[in-house]
Formats: sequence, structure tokens, C-alpha cells
Amino acid sequence: MNDVVNTGVALASRAPLGFRRLRVSGRRRESASIVSFELVPAEGEALPPFVAGQFVTLRLPLPCGERLLRTYSLSGDPADAARWRISVKREPAPPGRDDVPAGRGSSYLHDAVHVGDELDVAGPSGAFVCGDDTTRPVVLMSGGVGLTPLVSMLHRLRAMDGARERRVYFIHACEDGAVHAFGREVEAVAAACPNVHVHVCYRQPSGEDRLAQRFDSEGLISRETLQRLLPLDDYEVYLCGPSAFMQANWRLLRGLGVARERIHYEFFGPATVLEADAEPEPAQEAPSDAAGRLEIEQEIDADATIVKFHPNARPVAWDTRCESLLELAEQHGYAVPFSCRIGICNTCVTPLAQGGVEYTTAPLDPPPEGSVLLCCARPAGNVTLALSGTPT
Ligand SMILES: Cc1cc2nc3c(=O)[nH]c(=O)nc-3n(C[C@H](O)[C@H](O)[C@H](O)COP(=O)(O)OP(=O)(O)OC[C@H]3O[C@@H](n4cnc5c(N)ncnc54)[C@H](O)[C@@H]3O)c2cc1C
Repeated sequence: MNDVVNTGVALASRAPLGFRRLRVSGRRRESASIVSFELVPAEGEALPPFVAGQFVTLRLPLPCGERLLRTYSLSGDPADAARWRISVKREPAPPGRDDVPAGRGSSYLHDAVHVGDELDVAGPSGAFVCGDDTTRPVVLMSGGVGLTPLVSMLHRLRAMDGARERRVYFIHACEDGAVHAFGREVEAVAAACPNVHVHVCYRQPSGEDRLAQRFDSEGLISRETLQRLLPLDDYEVYLCGPSAFMQANWRLLRGLGVARERIHYEFFGPATVLEADAEPEPAQEAPSDAAGRLEIEQEIDADATIVKFHPNARPVAWDTRCESLLELAEQHGYAVPFSCRIGICNTCVTPLAQGGVEYTTAPLDPPPEGSVLLCCARPAGNVTLALSGTPT
């Protein structure tokens, strides 16, 4: 083993904000599948500020005695210093899988957490945030429950100085009116701000949705819809939704000429590869592997930082767009166990075979010497890990 292992250099000295006790001060149904919880300090201590787009980690005491960690974006207005809001979709078992339980964390929150209950909550954390340092028009584009961080961003954009000049396009796709959350809240912002434009796309609107004219387009978000909605301009795009939604819309946006570095995104589950090629090819379907991931060109530049997820694995180039080694591993098909994604739970601890890492967030509980937390580490030069398992 090389003697520069586990350098532990903190890129930013931000330690994750540890767990604090919060009380549920409000609970509200947003749609057939999403419930919001308002959280206030249990003991008077003020909440730390958050940036729109950030998330928190909940430690849920399941009846079986297990303490489950789950991550939820803050969906409320960051200007409201008195309370946080999270909005949780009840995760059903996958279609046709009666043999597996429904999502454990979301079921617990929906079924067992009520006003007055207390929860352990860590954070805020996360780098999927809407920058204040530009006046470029903004596209907030979400699928399903992926709208939660974008609703928070919408509130922030409304409140910002100069918001009158900054156009905002809030584009949301979901199944139908029954599962459409925050419709009224978003409409209220748009009604108060002429620069905010809202477009809602239902995949399969019901008869009631049609009668009430609750949606603007039907099916999937199409190239034509985006062309119609978005005049030629230099947009800052924020994208969040299920993997298929992310891949399809990344391709559409790139096909319309939106620069890669202008598309910011967050996955609510394992990250997947969004794009293979340097240049968009809107007319062609990008090749995909059996798991549906886009294939990656594996040419590695001579000056690239090399990552090997196992001494016997093929080397891959570090992608500076990745937040962490965990994200890079997921993009290359490794199923790495993770939970908090912010250096709190140590679920992603992995032996380090060679090289060193830098921590973007100092781990709450540093891992043993010779191992790293992939969720908050980046390579400090070429690095070899010893992940168990092979890419799928
Ligand atoms: C940065 C970030 C932000 C997030 N923000 C939000 C948010 O704002 N709102 C939100 O609702 N979610 C959000 N999530 C997702 C959230 O963290 C949870 O992943 C989600 O609530 C599901 O957790 P769960 O415990 O309910 O499901 P899990 O218990 O983890 O199960 C997930 C799925 O797997 C299925 N499953 C269970 N066992 C098996 C099996 N043996 N075989 C096959 N399938 C199985 C379950 O039925 C379920 O469909 C976010 C995630 C991240 C990373």
C-alpha cells in the first residue's frame, strides 16, 4: 500500500451539521402520494440557514428497532428561518412485486409521524443549489417528487433582488392531477411574478384533469414543447426527477444547444450517466447497455486523474462534474451501498488500495485509516479503491 493513503485533506472544512432534534409542527397532504412535514427546533435553538436546493438527512426509529437514514430535499422558502419543510412521496413496491415491501422510510413517515412528534435531522447539505451570481434566465425542470428542491428554488428566485429581470420557467411533469403536488403554491408565485412562467405536463391526464384544464401538455415533455416555451437564450437549468426523466430531458436540452455546464442536476437515488458524447446528436438515440445506461466512451486523456474502483478493475477517468467518488462509481455501474451521501452514516466506507482522497465535506465520524467515505471524497491524484462487487 502506498504511503500517501487517506490523506484526508479537507477541500472545504464544512463538517456536516450533526443531528438535532426537530418537532413536526405541521403536516399537509400535497397530492395523493406526497405529504409535507414542517419541522421546527424542539428546544428553541434556531435552525441553521439553508440554500434553496439543499437536503437534510433524517434518522428514523423504525418499530423493529432499526434506525434508518433517509435524505429529503428542503422544499420550503429559505427566507423562512423559523421552519424547514420536507415533502415525502410514499414509495410503493415496484409494479408487479407483491413479494417486496413498500419503501420503509417513506411508509414510516406517512403512517407513523404526526404533528408533535420529534425527529433527528442532520444538515442542511448538498451542492445542487441555485446560484445568485448570474442574471441568466432559469429553467426549473422536474419529474414527479423531483420538484421538491425546485419549489424551494422558485421561492428563492421570487425573493431575489433583480428577480423582475430574471425570467424563470418552472416546468413540471407528473402522471396526472391526482399526484400533482404544489400546483397552487407554484401558481401563486407565478401570479405574483410576471417573469415566472409555469408549464405542467401530465403523462396520462384523467377525465377530471381535462375538464378542469389542469395541465398544459400531455404525454412526455417533448422537444417541440421546450422549443415553444423557451425562446433562444442562455439558460441556467436545474433538473431533478427519476432516472429516465433525467436522461430524456438531458438529451432534449443538449439537443437544443444548452451547454453541459449550464445543466445542474440531482438524483434522488443512485446517479446514472446522463451523457456519453461530447457533442449532442439529437437525431439519434444514444447507444445504451442492457441496464439502460448510456455507454461511455472510454478514452482517457493523458492528463486525466485515474480512478480504479478495484485493483483489478478497468481504470476510469475522474469526471470533475461528479460531486464525489460515489457518484463516479454509480455512473460506472457499481452498486455502492449508501444512505446519507454527506459523510454522516459511513455506509459507503471503502478500503483504499493506493493513492489518496480529499474530502469535500469533513466526515462527521472519520473512517478507519486506510479507508474512505466515497460519498464526500474526491481523488487527490490517481487513486485505487477496493470496492467489493463488479459493475452491473
Ligand atoms: C439528495 C436526495 C434528496 C431526496 N429528496 C427527496 C424528497 O424531497 N422527497 C422524497 O420523497 N424523496 C427524496 N429522496 C429519496 C429518499 O431519500 C428515499 O430514497 C425515498 O423516500 C425512498 O426511501 P424508502 O425508505 O421509502 O424506500 P426503500 O425502503 O429504500 O425502498 C426503495 C424501493 O425499493 C423497493 N424494495 C424494497 N425491497 C426490495 C427488494 N428486495 N427488491 C426490490 N425492490 C425492493 C421498495 O418497494 C421501494 O420501491 C431524496 C434522495 C436524495 C439522495
